Amino acid sequence: MDDSTAVTRVDVAIVGAGPIGLCFANALSRHGVSSMLIDRQPRSAMVDPDSDGREIALTRASQQILDKLDVWSRVEPAERARMRGAKVFDGQSLFAMQIAPDAAKDEPLGCLVPNQVIRRAAYAALQTTTSQTTTSQTTTPGQGEILWRDEQEIVRFQASDTAVDIVLDSGEPVRASLLVAADSRFSTTRRAMGIPVHSYQHGQHMLVCRMHHDQPHDQTAWEWFGHGQTLALLPVDTHCSSVVLTLSPAEMEKQLALSVEAFDADITRRFDARLGPMHRVAEPHRYPLVSVYAERFVGPRQALIGDAAVGMHPVTAHGFNLGLQGLSRLADLIGDARAQGQDIASPWLLRRYQREQRLATAPLFAATLAIVGLYTDDRAPARLLRKAVLRAGEAAWPVKRLIAGHLMRSSD
Ligand SMILES: Cc1cc2nc3c(=O)[nH]c(=O)nc-3n(C[C@H](O)[C@H](O)[C@H](O)COP(=O)(O)OP(=O)(O)OC[C@H]3O[C@@H](n4cnc5c(N)ncnc54)[C@H](O)[C@@H]3O)c2cc1C
Repeated sequence: MDDSTAVTRVDVAIVGAGPIGLCFANALSRHGVSSMLIDRQPRSAMVDPDSDGREIALTRASQQILDKLDVWSRVEPAERARMRGAKVFDGQSLFAMQIAPDAAKDEPLGCLVPNQVIRRAAYAALQTTTSQTTTSQTTTPGQGEILWRDEQEIVRFQASDTAVDIVLDSGEPVRASLLVAADSRFSTTRRAMGIPVHSYQHGQHMLVCRMHHDQPHDQTAWEWFGHGQTLALLPVDTHCSSVVLTLSPAEMEKQLALSVEAFDADITRRFDARLGPMHRVAEPHRYPLVSVYAERFVGPRQALIGDAAVGMHPVTAHGFNLGLQGLSRLADLIGDARAQGQDIASPWLLRRYQREQRLATAPLFAATLAIVGLYTDDRAPARLLRKAVLRAGEAAWPVKRLIAGHLMRSSD
């Protein structure tokens, strides 16, 4: 890059201002590390994001990270749904494996918050971090300052031993110590970095939709593995839940073509009317199910965070939780390096981030794939195995405690 042009210099360039990119810039700012957030969307879409139908089950550790970033206090109590327990059903059987927290502690199993509320709060929290965020063409941000480049993408970049030189599609040249991809599981930045992924096309689509029902749900989530379909119910308000339905693409087309009345009757039937008649209160959203796990999380002056590193199947509700752990791990390593006057993107630092984040994510990724495989297979041996697992789970199976333990775990 020609040093005579007006080069913008930042510590970290982050591609993707989704919930993970926003929280990462926030965490860096608290360590006095400057960053640039680059997103193809306009800022207006981040100030007040539209609903995408996702209800995010947050672990206690995630709530603590969001609290440190001043995001949690921006989620109104009315927007947090406490989940007191979970039931796992198989087929038409009324038998359910029950997952509950320690009754003596009177603590919820987890907390559900709509994704657009998290994104709105994560964006709002940036406005009050130690320094102002700016869209102006500032070329020398102060300590911890966050520069915005919305409606922008990266055209090309090149890493050297000392920096990574980036060109945005506006033509602006940027020099950073580290380039971070947080641009979703379909990350084009990851591809440009030359990092391959293990990709799993599950061949199914997931529909999410808030529905009202006559019977209360007792703040209990349901996971229901029927034949040819997987259903879940996430408790939102006493008589309102987010319904999650997994079907083949062809079945999903038919489902979405139904009139509102026919849709309501169909979902009521799928749930065996166990909660009485159900009526949809929001537009349904559809997601093709693809899981990805990057072969590497780092490269020379490059790193992946959030779904760009690990795009989980939503069935175990871990994607954002793992992403939060990863961004705070990387921000802390960068903060320590900065405090000691060291390179914030040294190979040693990046390798350490990769090692720790892979250890934290690989077992859950593999377990989630195994669960998806077991519960979406309708052949007789799989059905028998499911029944055995659920019965064993109700009696003693340690996995039950593992699931509850993961949701309840705090970060200390
Ligand atoms: C139905 C569903 C339910 C879920 N439930 C849970 C749950 O209960 N618990 C949980 O922990 N997780 C859950 N997840 C996962 C969670 O939603 C994701 O892990 C999380 O949104 C990932 O955030 P992210 O910022 O990494 O990516 P994203 O939210 O995908 O954001 C990516 C950002 O990058 C921008 N971008 C993309 N490409 C470019 C580009 N080339 N240049 C510039 N910008 C770009 C986009 O505009 C966007 O702003 C669920 C997911 C789904 C689909």
